[in-house]
Amino acid sequence: MDWADELAAGVSGPQVVNDSKTPSGTVHVGSLRGPVILDVIARALRHAGLETTLLYGIDDLDPMDAQALLTPDAVEREMGKPLAHVPDPAGDCHESYARHFAGLFIDTFRGLGIVPDRYYWMSDIYPTGQMDGFIRTALDRATTVRDIYRRVANVQHPDAWLPLSVICPNCGRIGTTFATDWDGQTVAIECRPNLVTWATGCGWSGRVSPFGGAAKLPWNLEWAAQWSLLGVTIEPCGKDLSTAGGSRDRSDAIAREVFEREPPLNVPYEFINIGGKKMSTSKGRGAAAHEIVEVIPPEQLRFFFLRPRPNHAVDFDPEGTDAVPRLFDEFDKFAAATAGKPVKGDLPPGYAGTFAYSLLDRDAHVSTEAEAFRPAFGHLALLVQIPNVDIPARVEAEKGESLTERETAILDERIGAARAWLEAYAPERSIVAVREDPPIEALLGLDDDQRRYLGALAEAGDPPTSGDAWQNRIFEVAGAGGLPNGRAFAALYAAFLGRSNGPRAGWLLASLDPEFVIDRLRIASGQVPA
Ligand SMILES: [Zn+2]
Ligand SMILES: [Zn+2]
Repeated sequence: MDWADELAAGVSGPQVVNDSKTPSGTVHVGSLRGPVILDVIARALRHAGLETTLLYGIDDLDPMDAQALLTPDAVEREMGKPLAHVPDPAGDCHESYARHFAGLFIDTFRGLGIVPDRYYWMSDIYPTGQMDGFIRTALDRATTVRDIYRRVANVQHPDAWLPLSVICPNCGRIGTTFATDWDGQTVAIECRPNLVTWATGCGWSGRVSPFGGAAKLPWNLEWAAQWSLLGVTIEPCGKDLSTAGGSRDRSDAIAREVFEREPPLNVPYEFINIGGKKMSTSKGRGAAAHEIVEVIPPEQLRFFFLRPRPNHAVDFDPEGTDAVPRLFDEFDKFAAATAGKPVKGDLPPGYAGTFAYSLLDRDAHVSTEAEAFRPAFGHLALLVQIPNVDIPARVEAEKGESLTERETAILDERIGAARAWLEAYAPERSIVAVREDPPIEALLGLDDDQRRYLGALAEAGDPPTSGDAWQNRIFEVAGAGGLPNGRAFAALYAAFLGRSNGPRAGWLLASLDPEFVIDRLRIASGQVPA
């Protein structure tokens, strides 16, 4: 069973799966693990026959606290204001900063097949009064809240502190106000110039009612209130929030002791480390989701996040490595095994579920998808580098029959990904330039046994059409002549590339015109003059 199926088997009754996000900045690929896990949990619950609602919240009353995300002229004016009240930095395409950036991640989610039943916006919910009861309870129980912060997180709020963020009626900032003295109707607030380092309050003070959208709960309380308001039963959360005394512990305690409700089931998940860096916050090359998806199509990206159990950290280093081709190979292996074909190496239990949940379309016909012909990524990465190759024809020859419409779409997607990979990440040995004229210097470096081998390969029968068949023949002929495999491959790379290494030799020969291959083998063997 896949981990998500295990989870689904352990719960009963209707389920509400939830997550939420502050809409600031662009989406980095590491931060997509959470949404994929969320979606897969919802799919597994539905698969198990449980009535399931998938919700995704946008915490857009959170204050703007990142100066780097604003244009210089907007910094003084906008820092500290709710994200929902900051203008769209891109111009007039959205009604606010929050809507603009949430739009980016909603599009990214959709591209990954993640379609919540509903997105909810905290800036819409507070003004309806639905949060008023939770605000009142939090203020009435402020002593308990302060005690939870002290006990669970060792955070000492002053005795006068109230769990409330009021929007300053004078300057509109929410990050700069300090609320005290709840009298059952109103609170006293001060908009302090130096409450936080990243925004400057206007100095206004007075009494305000905290209801109907005039204020919001601080994050830990808002989170716990969302669980009560929406009836959340399962909410995965990242390791950074799941540490002892961290955000989740605080919100769990607030749910139990302040709002008197059991918190939802947590599914803590680990980070994705890309190139040795934690990618949830960094801005390294290739970190933005829209860049990675050029190289790793949605189904392989879902598979990447989904294959390890959530509590396993993943190290992924695409730069100058075969990590991307290996990911495709692993995906293809899961597909083949799901289709009942024999595969090499071990497979984890639940591989068929992992494959099914990797598919973009949650209603896809899994066995049809599993049976689809998928050309090896490494072979395509080679074919796209060889001039004048009819790639679909080569792939059809390898399959042995014409491609279905779906297989053609898979091929097109992979050709694009292979080109992007060669441009962005591929190691030097994967970049090939086949030498049109025999590379004389390299050929002179061959030993007699290597020349004999190349000659034997030329005479070993009709050239195979597939990379695998070529690879087998390369081994067979080497074995028959008693030549170690390493020397056989070195001879082939010398003959075709004029160097000592290269990509998988079977794919290289299968990519080239068969007549050209045989001619070159004969020349390199010395049977025919160059
Ligand atoms: Zn916009
Ligand atoms: Zn103010």
